[in-house]
Amino acid sequence: MSDLAIVYSRATQGLHAPLVTVEVHISNGLPSLTIVGLPEMAVKESKERVRSALLNCQFEFPMRRITINLAPADLPKESGRFDLPIALGILAATKQIPLAILEEYEFAGELALSGKLRCISGSLPLALATKSALRKLVLPKANALEASLIKGLEIYPASDLLQVCQHLTGKMAIPVFSPPSLSAKQDFAVDMIDIKGQHLAKRALEIAAAGRHNLLMTGPPGTGKTMLANRLPSILPALTEQEAIEVASLASIRKLPNIAEHFYCAPFRHPHHSASSAALVGGGSIPKPGEISLAHNGVLFLDELPEFDHRVLEALREPLENGHITLSRAQSQAEFPAKFQLIATMNPCPCGYLGSSQTSCQCLPTHIQRYKNKLSGPLLDRIDMHIEVSELPSGTLSQTTNLEESSATVRDRVQMAQKIQLARQGMLNSALKGNLIEQYCPLIPTDRAFLDQAMTKLQLSARSYHRILKLARSIADLASSAKIAHNHLTEALSYRKLERT
Ligand SMILES: [Zn+2]
Repeated sequence: MSDLAIVYSRATQGLHAPLVTVEVHISNGLPSLTIVGLPEMAVKESKERVRSALLNCQFEFPMRRITINLAPADLPKESGRFDLPIALGILAATKQIPLAILEEYEFAGELALSGKLRCISGSLPLALATKSALRKLVLPKANALEASLIKGLEIYPASDLLQVCQHLTGKMAIPVFSPPSLSAKQDFAVDMIDIKGQHLAKRALEIAAAGRHNLLMTGPPGTGKTMLANRLPSILPALTEQEAIEVASLASIRKLPNIAEHFYCAPFRHPHHSASSAALVGGGSIPKPGEISLAHNGVLFLDELPEFDHRVLEALREPLENGHITLSRAQSQAEFPAKFQLIATMNPCPCGYLGSSQTSCQCLPTHIQRYKNKLSGPLLDRIDMHIEVSELPSGTLSQTTNLEESSATVRDRVQMAQKIQLARQGMLNSALKGNLIEQYCPLIPTDRAFLDQAMTKLQLSARSYHRILKLARSIADLASSAKIAHNHLTEALSYRKLERT
């Protein structure tokens, strides 16, 4: 005599959550439990957790031969998320819960030995896929809020295995999760108004925000480069629903906290310069997104850029160009979006005081050169704006002027400039490629000649040529100008400082 039960769950593969059919087959023979279908270590350990959880919830654990197949077999599976579907499969195959009702649902959840359900990673991509499969979702209580960011899906949050079983047998139904409404209002702990002076840097930050251009700030320590960078999110418009779902899905795979609370805010990631290449671009045997993907649709802030490992920086080139990253591992391959805006800072020299009027630089010329050489030409090419943040004239900080603008005021202008771009070309200026650049960033013949001359004189690359055009377009958009005027072009050129030195 043999019994079979089928329970639906999902694995993670990049941003996707492909269906996994958990087949539980129970037959007569020596008592054993075998899991097949490319399970990772955490899934293999599932046996022990499931056995204890079933017994602790007063269910009968069959003393027969149990075979569990996680299909499709070629899909790598990790984490304890299959505990709950495996336990339910055993219960259904032994007729302790009804079989037929299972097909309306998908299940995911890690079991504690007591039968309690523990939070899983990637519940948001899972919820999205369950919704398109037109099933209902049962998952740990701790994941409900995050999964409910996907509208129009019935979610049943459960705290333990017993509760799930009572729901399925009709003894005590779990109420459908009703998510609290999220406001698109953004709250920032910091504001541009806190920064005195530095108008050039603020202007550059505003332009960078308007077209999502990459920005590198050079200057001695204590000039407020980090303060400025930290305030970039406060001048960015709220994310659209689609963008927010992408950001939250990536965060969900990495199990970041408070995903629902920050739903509409552009992410701001600030990895330390000791970060490894895997931490930055992503990795793992089943690839997980790195900082560049967690910064998708938002900002990646790299403080002290030359301090990062050379190989780590070179790994940024591909995503900076394409907006995504492909991670290949022996077992699997995954692609993650990584459309981030890069904001970086660096000192002018290793000690930081080159060109300072207050402290003298102690560095040898060869050390300064080596420091600057850490940034390769191709990487610098991909940074649209290079600006110097200089020391403030003494007394600036103590002046009590009301001249500083608030982030909200700047954000309004950025939002308006972005609306112009989206209406004109369906994307922000930094995303323009190939022919679209010529089409949407035209110059009058005299300006074209002027730019050609400047390119030769400053020895700028072809790549920076296009970046200058796109930057000029953003400057024109901030001025609500339909055409790129000469002064927009010269301002754009002025933000290529590093290449000239
Ligand atoms: Zn120095």
